[in-house]
Amino acid sequence: MSSDCLFCRIVRHEIPATIVREDDRTLAFRDIDPKAPTHVLVIPKTHVASLNEATDAAMLGELLLVARDIARAEGIESSGYRTVINTGAGAGQTVHHVHVHLLGGRNMKWPPG
Ligand code: AMP
Ligand code: ZN
Repeated sequence: MSSDCLFCRIVRHEIPATIVREDDRTLAFRDIDPKAPTHVLVIPKTHVASLNEATDAAMLGELLLVARDIARAEGIESSGYRTVINTGAGAGQTVHHVHVHLLGGRNMKWPPG
């Protein structure tokens, strides 16, 4: 838990978010600036700054399985979706609480363009 971490504050319901799924260990909410029709962030409730600091393999696996379950619930399971973890400022990480982006609902072919 980190008092000034944005995502820890969302976990504590101190700032609003559109929560799509919550359990004892994880929270999923809609990205405030969506890059696709479905853009959900899946986070551990425990503060971990990035993948570089992660030690809990089960927790990391849970994040992916939660993202998979949300993709199913959002109806993008068969059209395709992307899961992304940005690690470090050089990769575009702006919130230093590890999170999986779940993106889908449009053409998600890779590479884009
Ligand atoms: P990243 O750039 O990988 O660190 O992703 C951080 C994401 O958090 C960005 O896609 C932001 O749009 C999103 N974000 C920032 N503030 C909020 C917020 N208050 N609620 C929901 N998503 C947010
Ligand atoms: Zn945090």
